[in-house]
Amino acid sequence: MAKIYYDADADPSLLRDRTVAIIGYGNQGQAQALNLRDSGAKVIVGGLRDATLERATSDGFETMSVSEAAKVGDIICLLIPDEVQQKVYRDEILPHLTPGKALDFAHGYNVHYGFIAPPREIDVIMVAPRMIGVGVRSAYLAGKGVPAFVAVHQDGSGNAWPKTLAFAQAMGCTRSGAIESTFAEETELDHFTEHFVSPAMFRILVGSYDFLTANGYQPEAVLMELWASKEAAEVLEQMAEVGIFQQMALHSPTSQYGTLTHMESSLPAEVEDCMEAALAEIKDGSFAQEWELEQAAGYPVYTRLKQEALSHPVNGVERTVRELLG
Ligand code: NDP
Repeated sequence: MAKIYYDADADPSLLRDRTVAIIGYGNQGQAQALNLRDSGAKVIVGGLRDATLERATSDGFETMSVSEAAKVGDIICLLIPDEVQQKVYRDEILPHLTPGKALDFAHGYNVHYGFIAPPREIDVIMVAPRMIGVGVRSAYLAGKGVPAFVAVHQDGSGNAWPKTLAFAQAMGCTRSGAIESTFAEETELDHFTEHFVSPAMFRILVGSYDFLTANGYQPEAVLMELWASKEAAEVLEQMAEVGIFQQMALHSPTSQYGTLTHMESSLPAEVEDCMEAALAEIKDGSFAQEWELEQAAGYPVYTRLKQEALSHPVNGVERTVRELLG
């Protein structure tokens, strides 16, 4: 059984005399900084670029360079894109990692694959909300909080777990429950979703759009049916609320019968080979190596695939449907 931590498991006083340095003020940085400050933590923001510093200053935070923030911070939170973390860590943060400090991540990628390996006396911790930044903030303001994965990769101070839980509590994550995990598990599950579940879903939806429009159905009607009406989003919401099969009671018997009788035949048995292949390249590090090479080469494949996706005819029909139906 997974271990779940709640508010009562955390000791908020552990943050009282510590300074939290939020590095980066984007999706996660802004939400986490605001939640931590509202919970009573002393928060400063370190940024590399003017836009970050201006946004954080206008939200009332003391701002400084990354290097200065790393010097002042007791818990240093690396909340910049994973692709820029290695260089920023090496140049601006590593020189200030003195014993007793903690380096916090919201995703395990760089640590799990060994691209960032802090000195042994440093705590390396993770509080990874399972939610985009705006959701982290809005849930906190609503008094709820979002679930998170919490992990300790390295316990340099001997106090890394209590520190992690105090941090997760101040973020609002232990209100709903923080699940004990590892950097490996968080990264591999995240990548499996990104490499198998999301692409399979995109391919099924866009493939259905192509197939149905080729068979004479109106593009706008197809989009409304597949995802533009938000019925699909509501079904996902209900899966989380009441359960994947329990939510079927919200659909007609015809719908339930049609779904249940086609579960086996809708995808070929080889789909499990695709899952095996996706997990294998995550676990053996070959995807991480491929992604590092892609970055070093200036993103040629990423740029081409993104351009192809954004020029698919479905993009134009989506715009029309949104305009027509508000
Ligand atoms: P963002 O892309 O929102 O980060 C933006 C911040 O990083 C800004 O301060 C931005 O500065 C700065 N930044 C961006 N590019 C550069 C660059 N090339 N050089 C210097 N600074 C740069 O990051 P996220 O919040 O999405 O992700 C942060 C961490 O959280 C990652 O580890 C991610 O995996 C993890 N995570 C993200 C989630 C999400 O909701 N997106 C969910 C859970 C985890 P400026 O504004 O000045 O350009």
